[in-house]
Amino acid sequence: MPVPKPPSTRAEAAAKIAANPAAYKVCEGCNSIVGGGTDICPNCHSFRFDATPTQVVRQARLLGSREQTSVTAKDLT
Ligand SMILES: [Zn+2]
Repeated sequence: MPVPKPPSTRAEAAAKIAANPAAYKVCEGCNSIVGGGTDICPNCHSFRFDATPTQVVRQARLLGSREQTSVTAKDLT
Protein backbone atom coordinates (compact mmCIF):
# COMPACT_ATOMS: atom_id res chain seq x y z
CA MET A 1 0.00 0.00 0.00
CA PRO A 2 1.41 3.36 -0.99
CA VAL A 3 2.64 5.71 1.66
CA PRO A 4 0.23 8.66 1.90
CA LYS A 5 1.72 12.10 1.48
CA PRO A 6 2.07 13.59 4.94
CA PRO A 7 0.23 16.87 5.50
CA SER A 8 3.37 18.38 7.02
CA THR A 9 5.35 18.32 3.78
CA ARG A 10 5.89 22.05 3.83
CA ALA A 11 7.04 22.03 7.43
CA GLU A 12 9.41 19.20 6.65
CA ALA A 13 10.74 21.08 3.66
CA ALA A 14 11.23 24.13 5.85
CA ALA A 15 13.12 22.04 8.38
CA LYS A 16 15.29 20.65 5.61
CA ILE A 17 16.09 24.16 4.41
CA ALA A 18 16.81 25.39 7.93
CA ALA A 19 19.23 22.49 8.40
CA ASN A 20 21.21 23.45 5.31
CA PRO A 21 20.60 27.15 4.60
CA ALA A 22 23.76 27.53 2.52
CA ALA A 23 22.11 25.54 -0.27
CA TYR A 24 19.20 27.96 -0.59
CA LYS A 25 18.39 31.64 -0.89
CA VAL A 26 15.42 33.89 -0.35
CA CYS A 27 13.79 35.71 -3.24
CA GLU A 28 13.68 39.43 -2.54
CA GLY A 29 10.67 39.79 -4.77
CA CYS A 30 8.23 37.36 -3.19
CA ASN A 31 10.13 35.96 -0.18
CA SER A 32 9.94 32.42 -1.41
CA ILE A 33 12.88 30.10 -0.91
CA VAL A 34 14.65 28.79 -3.96
CA GLY A 35 17.62 26.51 -4.55
CA GLY A 36 21.04 28.13 -4.36
CA GLY A 37 21.64 27.58 -8.08
CA THR A 38 18.48 29.36 -9.14
CA ASP A 39 19.06 32.47 -11.24
CA ILE A 40 15.47 33.57 -11.74
CA CYS A 41 12.67 33.08 -9.23
CA PRO A 42 10.14 30.57 -10.62
CA ASN A 43 7.36 32.38 -8.76
CA CYS A 44 7.86 36.06 -9.54
CA HIS A 45 10.77 36.02 -12.01
CA SER A 46 12.89 38.24 -9.82
CA PHE A 47 16.64 37.86 -10.03
CA ARG A 48 17.45 39.39 -6.69
CA PHE A 49 18.06 36.98 -3.85
CA ASP A 50 19.24 37.13 -0.26
CA ALA A 51 21.60 34.22 0.33
CA THR A 52 22.39 35.14 3.93
CA PRO A 53 22.02 31.86 5.86
CA THR A 54 20.32 33.53 8.82
CA GLN A 55 17.75 35.06 6.49
CA VAL A 56 17.15 31.73 4.78
CA VAL A 57 16.59 29.99 8.10
CA ARG A 58 14.29 32.75 9.30
CA GLN A 59 12.20 32.64 6.15
CA ALA A 60 12.10 28.84 6.17
CA ARG A 61 10.68 28.83 9.69
CA LEU A 62 8.19 31.49 8.73
CA LEU A 63 6.97 29.62 5.69
CA GLY A 64 6.87 26.32 7.53
CA SER A 65 4.77 27.72 10.34
CA ARG A 66 2.42 29.67 8.10
CA GLU A 67 1.79 26.81 5.69
CA GLN A 68 2.26 29.13 2.75
CA THR A 69 2.29 27.83 -0.77
CA SER A 70 5.30 29.83 -1.85
CA VAL A 71 7.89 27.27 -0.86
CA THR A 72 8.74 25.71 -4.16
CA ALA A 73 8.82 22.04 -3.38
CA LYS A 74 10.40 21.14 -6.67
CA ASP A 75 13.52 23.02 -5.67
CA LEU A 76 13.97 20.86 -2.62
CA THR A 77 14.54 17.53 -4.24
ZN1 LIG B 1 10.15 35.50 -6.17
